[in-house]
Amino acid sequence: MKTKILDYQIENHLYADVSRIAGKGLFTSKEIKKGEVAFVMKGPQIKFHPKDRAESMATPNLVGLDDGLYMDPISPYVFVNYHCDPNLAVEEDGVTYVALRNIKAGDELFFDYSISEYSDWEMPCHCDSKNCRKMIRSINELPVDFFDKYFPFIPKYFQRVFIKKYIENHK
Ligand SMILES: [Zn+2]
Repeated sequence: MKTKILDYQIENHLYADVSRIAGKGLFTSKEIKKGEVAFVMKGPQIKFHPKDRAESMATPNLVGLDDGLYMDPISPYVFVNYHCDPNLAVEEDGVTYVALRNIKAGDELFFDYSISEYSDWEMPCHCDSKNCRKMIRSINELPVDFFDKYFPFIPKYFQRVFIKKYIENHK
């Protein structure tokens, strides 16, 4: 029987290697210019509404796409690490990752997990950014300067959640 994983076309400049931050990371073997697509994340899509904090903490690999819709990324996409000064963000479709600045061949790829999560999830961060947020939470807790830095490269649903929460907090 054929598995569906074999049908995914993985960009051949991507590879997993030892991360400079934590465990394994995702790297590019070719230069990617600011504004260019770095990759399109692939994996099965899963309908999922975490009931509580325990459920969102138990599924750290899932990447949010829309309200109640997640992707379970296949290798090597599953290895893309979080960083508080990331070199990637995500188009409105939630799967197309774009370079926020010029990326050199051999660089590790990172994005801000807050732009694709809306739940009680949280994660301590030990990245080497001078703007490290130390504790990372979902889109509703993203500081506005980070939102401005990534916008418009934030999935549509999470943009709407952020803006709604921002307005509520500034009434
Ligand atoms: Zn950090």
